[in-house]
Formats: sequence, C-alpha cells, structure tokens
Amino acid sequence: MRRRLNDPAAPGGPAPGARPRSPLYPAGGLAPGVTPANSNTRVSAAALPRRAEPGAQPPAGPARPPAGPAANLGLNSERQRAAMVQRLREQGIRDARVLDAMMAVPRHLFVDEGLASRAYEDAALPIGHGQTISQPWVVARMIAAVCEDRAPTRVLEIGAGCGYQAAVLAQIVREVYAVERIRGLYELARGHLRALRLARVRLSYGDGMAGLPAQAPFDAIVVAAAGLEIPRALLSQLAPGGRLIAPEGGAQQRLVLIERTGAASWTRTELEAVRFVPLRAGIQS
Ligand code: SAH
Repeated sequence: MRRRLNDPAAPGGPAPGARPRSPLYPAGGLAPGVTPANSNTRVSAAALPRRAEPGAQPPAGPARPPAGPAANLGLNSERQRAAMVQRLREQGIRDARVLDAMMAVPRHLFVDEGLASRAYEDAALPIGHGQTISQPWVVARMIAAVCEDRAPTRVLEIGAGCGYQAAVLAQIVREVYAVERIRGLYELARGHLRALRLARVRLSYGDGMAGLPAQAPFDAIVVAAAGLEIPRALLSQLAPGGRLIAPEGGAQQRLVLIERTGAASWTRTELEAVRFVPLRAGIQS
C-alpha cells in the first residue's frame, strides 16, 4: 500500500493496541528467552526457509562443523555466515552490498558467548535489558530498503542495541550515527564497535525519538524499535530524496518505508508484518 503524506504526523498504520499479555504465536525461529512480543523478527514468514537446506550450503565448503563449544565458532563462523547469506538470498535479499556486508560482520561477536553457536540462525537473540539483536533477515531487509537505487553516505540508526546493525551499515555507508537509550546496551555496543575498529559509527546515548538534529539531515534513517507512529522529528531530519524505515504499531506492527519527496512531502509504503521491541521515550541509566 502506498500513499502520499503531506503531514508527517498524519495518522496511519495499524490502530494502536495493547501489547499481547500471553502471546500465542508459534515460537519457531526464536531463541530461548526471546518472546514473540520482543523479537525484532518478521511475522508470518512460515513459507520462507528458516534453516539452510543441504542444497543451500555453499558448494565447496569444508565439512559441516560439529556442534561444539562457542570457542570453536570463530573458526567456523565464516562458513556459517555464508550459509546465512545464502538463506537471505533465497528469502529475497538481492542487493550485493547488503549481502556482502552481512557476510563481513561476525554476528557471533555481538551476542553472549553462551548464544554464539546460535548466532547464524535466522533468529533474534536476547542481548540483556529485555532487548534483542534483530533477526538477520530483518537487518538485511531494512538496510536494503533504504539503500535501494541509491548510495547513502550519512545514515542514522535509532536503537543500536548491541551494535550489530550499525556494524552492518558501516560496511556500506561512510558515516553511521547510532543512538541507544539504555546505558548498559550503549556501553555494550561501544565495546563491540571498538573491538572491530568500526570508527565510522558514531554512537550516542540518548533518546533517539528526537533524532540527532545537530547532525541532520540524513540520507537514510533506520529505526530498530516500534512506536505507534514514526516520530515527527525523524521525518524532518531526512534529506530530500532520503528514506526512513521503521516498524510501526503496537500489538500488530508493519515495516513502513517513508521517502522524503520534497520540503514538506513524504511518501509512505507499507511492507512486511513484523514484531519489534517498543520504541520508548527518555533514557534508562
Ligand atoms: N539494532 C539492534 C536492535 C536492538 S533492539 C540490532 O542490531 O540488533 C532495539 C533497541 O532500540 C533496544 O536496544 C532499545 O533499547 C532501543 N530503543 C528503544 N527506544 C529507543 C529510543 N527512543 N532511543 C534509542 N534507542 C531506543
């Protein structure tokens, strides 16, 4: 569905609703500790392959790694990432820049050691503070949508979490600004990004609902948490021709792609049904 927006605050998207108390959604693809209510995943992707089929493996790779301690994962991670990237391709991600970036970033280094062996499944995983690292498909889909037919050089991410999506963005984009509202996660992301020497990411601790007015405008904005509506400040910080992608809604959410078409005009396209952690105002120390 696509319609023009002349007022960024115009009502749109799913009606606001209470978050489900006891979700009944099937938990396939989710990791222990991650509920469908906080998973940063696509909803109703039952038709999509969740795991690599034998035919989906890269043709000439080494033998399948034995399931073993996370310590072994570093050695095997490249092969597991290649299988993840192949799955993303089968799930419709076509942009070679995005696939290369997903191949380049060691996702297992962004999760707790105890979960590292699951890092290349197409699942969200807990990162502490009740938040999750987004499902690889969701990360790839959001980046591909804002980069389609363009090469953004200045991108803002709201909801850095453990820093994974910012690290993927940094493979493609020269300047990545990322904001996180939970201090513990901001520090976690900072550690991960430093360890990988990703100086292209400028991370800040604050309420991303206000955006980063001093650094605006941005060629693209990626929001990794769902609000009932997209904050107006973010729409106004998009450069003309720039794109924003965000999950929108409460109990029912959808990815929404906004494109700024002029000084006071935006277009809006609704994409897949998803389930993200909530976008919250203020900071948490
Ligand atoms: N981008 C992450 C996803 C993290 S989950 C990844 O790569 O996997 C979403 C994050 O959004 C959470 O860490 C949550 O604390 C954060 N968040 C929610 N509301 C926010 C706000 N107003 N400003 C900044 N971060 C916010």
